[in-house]
Amino acid sequence: MTEDDNEICIAVSACLLGEEVRYDGGHRRHSFVADDLARFVTLVPVCPEVELGLGVPRETIRLVDGGGIVRLRGTTSGDDHTRGMKQLGKRRAADLKKRDLCGYVFKARSPSCGLFRVPLHRDGKQPLRAGRGMFAEAVTSALPELPVEEEGRLDDAKLRETFVERVFGYARLRRAFKPRWRTRDLIEFHASEKLLLLAHRPAAYRSLGRLVARGAEIDRAELSTTYRTDYMAALAAPATIGRHVNVLQHIAGYFKRDLDAASREELARAIGDYGDGLVPLVVPATLLAFFARRFENEYLLSQSYLAPHPKELMLRNHV
Ligand code: SF4
Repeated sequence: MTEDDNEICIAVSACLLGEEVRYDGGHRRHSFVADDLARFVTLVPVCPEVELGLGVPRETIRLVDGGGIVRLRGTTSGDDHTRGMKQLGKRRAADLKKRDLCGYVFKARSPSCGLFRVPLHRDGKQPLRAGRGMFAEAVTSALPELPVEEEGRLDDAKLRETFVERVFGYARLRRAFKPRWRTRDLIEFHASEKLLLLAHRPAAYRSLGRLVARGAEIDRAELSTTYRTDYMAALAAPATIGRHVNVLQHIAGYFKRDLDAASREELARAIGDYGDGLVPLVVPATLLAFFARRFENEYLLSQSYLAPHPKELMLRNHV
């Protein structure tokens, strides 16, 4: 973990941090977020329903589809909270933007916080699992680059690793585009993200490279927006085992002359075993990082691919 990682802020639905803010006075503490992630980032709890003044305990609310217009209503009273929640979402998104937010973990299925497949109630019909929580919708519309995820999906090792990788990638991106950033900062950033981008979306690495090369001819604001958007979209594309194998073999190529035949064979076996699903990514990646340090390969040591997030989270032990 670096000093810069301390600056990383992730907003979290407050009930996932153990705060007793749910409609029934309960919580849904999520230990990966509240215990593990909390050691490496600053967590910002947000409960939109409490902030809206609905109190604890409170009437449950739900998304209701009224002829194509989605409203947020009390389940029994029918009270309409649509306007208030939309306004709160806009206001909170602006506040969170100022806090240099790098991610958001939302509570699944909530009519306020859920990201995917939130029940959308329709008169006389089965609810459609196609909604997005009204607060989550306002935040994601205002902050489209922001890495977001639901807590339930974080129980899947692959999705968890991808989300955390995006959060830390977003933090590095923000540091590269600090106020008064120079073209040189962007060139350095792009070079150090090469192997990570290749593991996700090789075409994006190349198109972003072309963009950086034309940097001097492009308006700075446009360059920044396009690079940021495309970089985050590339990280959101799942890294595949095949692409990881390509990247690992590419790194191994740097040690061809440094290693004896037995060590080269050992390395090739570790990469092959990962490709065959016999060992997790952490095995060949750790071996390669060790050789990069041992042979003082500054280029490889600068690659975010070898340390995309704190190793203590052990995310690569399960993918
Ligand atoms: S899901 Fe969202 S609105 Fe509901 S209790 Fe949790 S933080 Fe509050």
